[in-house]
Amino acid sequence: MQLKLTHKLLILVILPLSFELCFVFVLSELLKKAEIELHRETHSKAVIAESNELVKNFYDTSSALIAYAVSPSQQVTAEYLKRVELIPSRLRSLELLVSGSERQKAAFAEVYASTNKALTLLKKIKEDLDSGESARNLASAGLLRKRVTTAVGALITHIHELVADERQIEEVAPQAQARFRDLIVACLAGGIVLNILLAVALALFVSQSTVNRLRVLMDNTRRIVGRQQLNPAVGGNDEIAHLDATFHDMARELALAEKQKQEVISMVSHDLRSPLMSLDFSLTLIGSGKYGELNERGHKELTSAESSTKRLIRLINDLLDIEKIESGKLTVLKMPLSFTALAEHSIDSVQALAAAKEITVKVESAGDIEFPGDADRLEQVIINLLGNAIKFSPNQSDVTIKCEEKDKFVEIRVIDSGPGIPADYRKKVFDRFQQVSRGDGKEKEGTGLGLAISRAIVEAHGGTIGVDSEGGQGSSFWIRLPDA
Ligand code: ADP
Repeated sequence: MQLKLTHKLLILVILPLSFELCFVFVLSELLKKAEIELHRETHSKAVIAESNELVKNFYDTSSALIAYAVSPSQQVTAEYLKRVELIPSRLRSLELLVSGSERQKAAFAEVYASTNKALTLLKKIKEDLDSGESARNLASAGLLRKRVTTAVGALITHIHELVADERQIEEVAPQAQARFRDLIVACLAGGIVLNILLAVALALFVSQSTVNRLRVLMDNTRRIVGRQQLNPAVGGNDEIAHLDATFHDMARELALAEKQKQEVISMVSHDLRSPLMSLDFSLTLIGSGKYGELNERGHKELTSAESSTKRLIRLINDLLDIEKIESGKLTVLKMPLSFTALAEHSIDSVQALAAAKEITVKVESAGDIEFPGDADRLEQVIINLLGNAIKFSPNQSDVTIKCEEKDKFVEIRVIDSGPGIPADYRKKVFDRFQQVSRGDGKEKEGTGLGLAISRAIVEAHGGTIGVDSEGGQGSSFWIRLPDA
């Protein structure tokens, strides 16, 4: 699917949200219907109760009237009047309750009429009783009862018609409510199951279309750093696919840059280093007088040319070494080494430099110490340390190289009485192109690469390198190499 990442995220949000909204809507509809059923039931109960009350009221009033006929005491009269007054208010309550349904309103009209008729009858009987005609017209309380019962009977018949529907509602409403309850429970259970299925489906969708491809991307970043071949393109048209395409472009550019760098390096080592080496050799021959003696001016120019050539060769060698270190091609071949031999060879290489400043290079060690190492590479390290020590020491001072056997490692120190290394530079000087700026111009004589190369060589031996120095008290550069 050609979806953008933002679209996928929108799907992740919108899909569950729409589902939840539908779910809530269905649930609320069901609840509404259940509530309507409950309301219908309550309403029916109220209509039935109110109707029953009306009938009971009539019976009570009739009974009070019969009691009045038998013994018209003050108390019985009050009782009758109280009952009679209640009937219109009951009628009003019932009217209000049925006002919502046209059919019930029609039935209520009948009830209303028969109630009024019965009331008029009751009032007429009462008037008859009061006018003393009772003895003549109403032969007995039995006759009275008969007339009242006929009137109330008509009312009851109409009341029955009024509440017939309500009784049916009262009967079926609980069943309908139970059905809605079951539906709500089923809807809830179904909703939960669907929700879980939707969550799993979305998680799979995200994992397939995003997380797995992001993982490939992360692996590609690691591969770029490690200069390895990248994974095949992740495919698609989203931001991840674009990023992956950029990674592939970047890897191609890097490979191209790497190829060009290799070409420059081989050009530097063959087309620059080799002619410089032969130039250096020729200058040495000229200096030896093989092609005739030079005058004093000639010697001076030759010495300057020789030192420039040597500096250039050193710079090229350093650059080639740094490249080797960066491309992981720096290898060391460990052989048994003797410290004495290593120190002597290294001192030979810096002797001219030391002599020029009348500096004495002293060797200190308790006997000849042996350890495994790459002779050429370690000599390069010691020469660099001795060269720096001589460069930075005052004239006619001493530079000491000493070796000690410690627990599980051998420590070689090159100690001088130069300006020392300021505290904030003691780690930095081992990084590439880092030189302590003192304003004496000596840093210009170097490349700032020697100690970085030394550190790489020592670490390739499994050792460590560092410097102890108190400002103005000289420097003590040390290397610690495993003794086995
Ligand atoms: P380079 O000597 O070619 O500049 P290095 O990496 O060998 O490069 O040394 C880096 C810097 O460390 C030097 O420029 C100098 O500032 C400082 N340094 C190294 N050795 C000494 C020393 N023995 N005394 C004082 N400073 C030193």
